[in-house]
Amino acid sequence: MFSDSQAALQRASEDHLGPGQAITSDIITTAQGLTEKGIKVILQWVPSHIGIEGNERADKIAKEAASKPMPPSIDRYSSFSYTMRQIKAQKRTEIKEWIYKTTYKEGKKRNRTYSLTNALEIDPQLSMIRKPLAKRFYQLKLGHAITASYLYRIQRLDKQNCWWCNAAKQDIDHLLFECRHWRAQRRTLYGDLRRRGVTTPRYSEERPKNRLFNTPRAVEPILDFLNTTKIGLGPNGDEEEEEGSRLDRWDLDRLENESIEN
Ligand SMILES: [Zn+2]
Repeated sequence: MFSDSQAALQRASEDHLGPGQAITSDIITTAQGLTEKGIKVILQWVPSHIGIEGNERADKIAKEAASKPMPPSIDRYSSFSYTMRQIKAQKRTEIKEWIYKTTYKEGKKRNRTYSLTNALEIDPQLSMIRKPLAKRFYQLKLGHAITASYLYRIQRLDKQNCWWCNAAKQDIDHLLFECRHWRAQRRTLYGDLRRRGVTTPRYSEERPKNRLFNTPRAVEPILDFLNTTKIGLGPNGDEEEEEGSRLDRWDLDRLENESIEN
């Protein structure tokens, strides 16, 4: 990659916070993708573009980019700047895209430029969406989710029937794989899983939950599913709010690693 801007080359090679970080992140991700395909990527400073193939095209693209409205500075997303700092691999970028997709769904219906402006206004909600969601993911994964069967065990409820469909026992497996109340959302989940090449639960399968929650490709579909249901929240749906806001970064970091490792 040739450039006559030493500053730009320097910036593109360091994934630190500050102006240009989103672009840097994209460049590094793209470079990693190429490297994985065996293509060596070298950033090379040249005195000027003149006489180098691709110059005209680069100029044209630069002009187009300059005429577009500026995307919001990465600094303004301070609520997840710590996550952005860690975005190095493609998998992380996928998570980031999922968060954008989920958070900015509203703005996305309008045109692109408009949605970027809107993103700033929606920003404060971001942590509200993410924190409890990550927490629910972990509670379900580790078997510590709020279910009727759990509340019954700790004597907070006098029966363990499902408060949505009245099935005899509401445990985690019931909520994830059986509860009729979340049928439509589950259909979407299974569709998403299939599209990603993840086998959907079979009747003969003993622990589909463990398999799914440990499959990196299944993490996003599961998060989408949880986001559209109240599974893992208490009977009133808001029981977890207070707890959720106390969730620290640690869970979110783990969630990101979850989709990379294993
Ligand atoms: Zn149910």
